[in-house]
Amino acid sequence: MRFDILTLFPTMFDGPLGESIIKRAADDGLLDIRRYNIRDYATDRHKSVDDAPYGGGAGMVMKVDVLARAVGDVVGDAVVPVILMTPQGRVFTQQIAAELAQQPRIVLVCGHYEGIDERAMSLFSDQISIGDYVLTGGELAAMVVVDAVARLVPGVLAEASPQEESHSGGLLEYPQYTRPPAWQGQAIPPMLLSGHHAEIARWRRKQALARTREHRPDLLARAPLSAADRKLLAEIERDASTTETET
Ligand code: SAM
Repeated sequence: MRFDILTLFPTMFDGPLGESIIKRAADDGLLDIRRYNIRDYATDRHKSVDDAPYGGGAGMVMKVDVLARAVGDVVGDAVVPVILMTPQGRVFTQQIAAELAQQPRIVLVCGHYEGIDERAMSLFSDQISIGDYVLTGGELAAMVVVDAVARLVPGVLAEASPQEESHSGGLLEYPQYTRPPAWQGQAIPPMLLSGHHAEIARWRRKQALARTREHRPDLLARAPLSAADRKLLAEIERDASTTETET
């Protein structure tokens, strides 16, 4: 999969793209991540990419003419998603990551300063926010999108990303344990040592439901639940009310 990232700060991506799984996948040719410096498309002597806002006010605004040249050069006639990173976009989710991972190529554009000239909006087919807060620039947001999408590209992870992973099937993932078997008085749940795969799967599903109920009831309310899940949830409710009565 190809990612084209337009940014004023291409070297910010060196760390996240130069380590671990993403680097290995790029070295193996599964990912082609290209960076373009928007400043290279400025034409004046000072290579200006921003200017003061009309109407006054704080900060600087990225110039539409420079952005249009940059996007035009990178995208050309290709029909690809051209996505602006912005706190005003639709909020990024695992589902959006999965949709984007179906694409052979996406283009991510990072704003900076006070944002970008509104007339540039026609350059984009989509706008994505990574959450309801404001960053200094779109670079960290683009890194989040690249990371979340790239790991869904077939072959990038050694094993296929499990459906049980948090947010993939609508729930949070069950708890995980590894050696040592006892740590500071905390043992491994005996079920995980039982060797009964079907029982372990049931235990994990119940744990996933219980922690989603506890940490993210909003997700649980929307999750596609089977009849077996509803039975497990009833058990969880019973367990919780027994604990409450005891305490
Ligand atoms: N003045 C803008 C507003 O209030 O909507 C915020 C501009 S922000 C300081 C500068 C740039 O950071 C934005 O153009 C965008 O590219 C990026 N950015 C900031 N917060 C973001 C978020 N939550 N998700 C994605 N990009 C974000």
